[in-house]
Amino acid sequence: MSDETPFDYDLFVIGAGSGGVRAARVAAGETGARVAIAEESRYGGTCVIRGCVPKKLMVFASGYGRMADEARAYGWDIEEKGFSWDAFKPKLEAELDRLEAIYQRLLDGSGVDKFNQRATVADAHTVRLADGSTKTAKHILVATGGRPVKPDLPGAELGITSNEIFHVAELPKRILIIGGGYIGCEFAGILNGLGSEVTQYYRGTQVLRGFDDEARGLIADEMRAAGIDLQVETDVVKLEKDADGIRVFDTRGRETIFDQVLFATGRAPNTDGMGLAEAGVELGRNGEVIVDDFSQTAVPSIWAIGDVTDRVQLTPVAIREGMAFVSTVFRGVPMKPDHELIPTAIFTQPEMGTVGMSEEEAIQKAGEPLEIYTTSFKPMQQSFAGTAAQKILMKLVVGKQSRKVLGCHIVGPSAGEMIQLAGIAVKMGATKEDFDRTVAVHPTAAEEIVTMRNPTRTLG
Ligand code: NDP
Repeated sequence: MSDETPFDYDLFVIGAGSGGVRAARVAAGETGARVAIAEESRYGGTCVIRGCVPKKLMVFASGYGRMADEARAYGWDIEEKGFSWDAFKPKLEAELDRLEAIYQRLLDGSGVDKFNQRATVADAHTVRLADGSTKTAKHILVATGGRPVKPDLPGAELGITSNEIFHVAELPKRILIIGGGYIGCEFAGILNGLGSEVTQYYRGTQVLRGFDDEARGLIADEMRAAGIDLQVETDVVKLEKDADGIRVFDTRGRETIFDQVLFATGRAPNTDGMGLAEAGVELGRNGEVIVDDFSQTAVPSIWAIGDVTDRVQLTPVAIREGMAFVSTVFRGVPMKPDHELIPTAIFTQPEMGTVGMSEEEAIQKAGEPLEIYTTSFKPMQQSFAGTAAQKILMKLVVGKQSRKVLGCHIVGPSAGEMIQLAGIAVKMGATKEDFDRTVAVHPTAAEEIVTMRNPTRTLG
């Protein structure tokens, strides 16, 4: 194809996050396409630079205080002097630099041309770079991701978002987190574990909306038991600068002073000023790029993957979308990314792993009566230590007639690791009897997932 095309490139990718980098390097490295990529910030995007990776490292950091208590209970003579942000932060930054360099090397190794600047769409086959130059391409892939958004309220500029939390000069003593989604709940656990005094406001009645009620209920209980001041049906009205910090006015009529306010109030697709609508690309209500099942936009030569399309905002999903795009466009094998039964983990403390339908969703959508299997117990490791043990919850949502496991929800240590494997079974359409005839791995927490004999309740 390369010899015939009148374009500078076969593919121009805008945005070097997980999805864009994968699509660029596979298209160039494995199909021989001539590919360029533009990135205005850092290579690796949200996941590597300001999301999953630094977040998970902070989750690890925040867990050692509890582990030190447990270690003492197991007979270790450990002197604990507390956490030092000054010691951790440079190591975190060095690790992100290392990972970014790997991403760059992967692109170089695949022969992708890199442009370290902002790129926008000039027309169906032309990209305009920030330096004023233009490049033409047979296909343009928009993989610009998303960004955190703050609500429009007085003083919002005094608060930070997840983009800035990794770079604060010092850990706040008193922090308010606004929002009860993934990011808010994960950072509540992280900062609490690192020693900050954490208050979290959520406007609804229960955090982690959309997840299984029982699972999120347990997480909320354990977050409170761990010392997080989680206040539901509470929102912020305005923020003011105060000599002692930030004065927060809330919907309950109170005024409270915090050192830092973190808005975890959702994310928006990065399409502002991208020239997409002008080129004929259809955008949704929140600015997301509307694509078909193959990630193609209303302009046939322009495609979009990842968070900018606001389908499922998860790194592995963006990567899958990128791979499917390359298959469709550069291998001639049309492939739709599969968005069904995506296992996922939320790194709250306790952690949650989940795949398939929540009990509430299954009641609405399963189309058959349900059997609900649940078990809840204290993990052996902490029971022995006698330290404050966070309970483990395991739950299966089973179709009473089809026998299929429609949903699996795990709350507890390593729930994310467990759900990856349970996810294979659920994706394969395993029945409850398939789970039952699998021998337990003993002694583990995970064994409980195959030893739940009788339903806790039947519905419908
Ligand atoms: P979410 O949409 O998950 O949560 C946003 C939260 O902010 C909700 O609790 C929402 O309340 C609340 N909120 C929204 N607007 C306002 C407002 N104006 N005032 C007060 N509260 C408000 O977004 P996140 O930013 O937490 O995460 C974005 C996405 O990133 C997730 O959907 C997820 O896909 C991905 N992610 C995945 C992670 C993982 O896999 N572990 C980790 C982090 C992020 P309400 O419920 O009422 O709408």
